[in-house]
Amino acid sequence: MNKSPNPHRCLVETRKLCKTYPDGRVNALIDVNLCIRQGEFVAIMGPSGSGKTTLLNTLGALDNPTQGEVLFEGKPLGSWGSLDVFRSREIGFVFQAFFLLPTLSALENVQVPMFEGDLPVRKRVERARELLESVGMGHRLNALPPKLSVGERQRVAIARALANEPKLLLSDEPTGNLDSKNEAEVLDLFCDLHRTHGKTMIMITHSEEVARRAERIIRMRDGQIVADDPVVKTSRAG
Ligand code: ADP
Ligand code: MG
Repeated sequence: MNKSPNPHRCLVETRKLCKTYPDGRVNALIDVNLCIRQGEFVAIMGPSGSGKTTLLNTLGALDNPTQGEVLFEGKPLGSWGSLDVFRSREIGFVFQAFFLLPTLSALENVQVPMFEGDLPVRKRVERARELLESVGMGHRLNALPPKLSVGERQRVAIARALANEPKLLLSDEPTGNLDSKNEAEVLDLFCDLHRTHGKTMIMITHSEEVARRAERIIRMRDGQIVADDPVVKTSRAG
């Protein structure tokens, strides 16, 4: 690969990424080469078991590749001192199942990723409040997750993912548990994050319609990328 400065530098990049789980029965990823540029909004699609989650988790250092490497801003993840620090500073995760702490309020849940940082308490609370306001949850700051609708829970989870101003937002079927109205609202939120804040986002989805809100669709099958195409926008702007 050419090492000269590249105007379209990758924010995150994989080189010959392979993953075999310890039981060794399947190759979850086979020689995956990928470059996601700063500011891109990418959807990942593919049948169940095709390696989507494994790829996302490897990009976000939640899982290690068996071979190959992930580079973030051109730097191999292996050269970050601590992957925990890397993850909490640079990556925001949104999952289908939200994973909010049920006994903490919305306002407290959003502060959890900030506990490791050096913000004073008052600033931390203020930031959590602003984030919740920005996702339309300013009126439910003190609610516990079990008292929130699933759509509201996902909004809180998105606010939490943004807590440390990550450069990359990774989401694994973020609308998988939502009805169509909430799905549309959460998608609007993602599109706004991308459009207004230029956030780089990678989102796994089963829905062709959801994927078309992104700018680029990567399709996987049996651990490999089998298609990688820009989304051609027709009527409504995404
Ligand atoms: P997808 O998200 O596309 O459904 P996954 O990345 O979850 O796919 O899985 C890819 C392949 O790896 C599948 O064959 C799956 O069974 C296997 N796999 C995923 N997680 C594990 C695990 N923890 N241990 C063993 N095999 C796994
Ligand atoms: Mg999956």
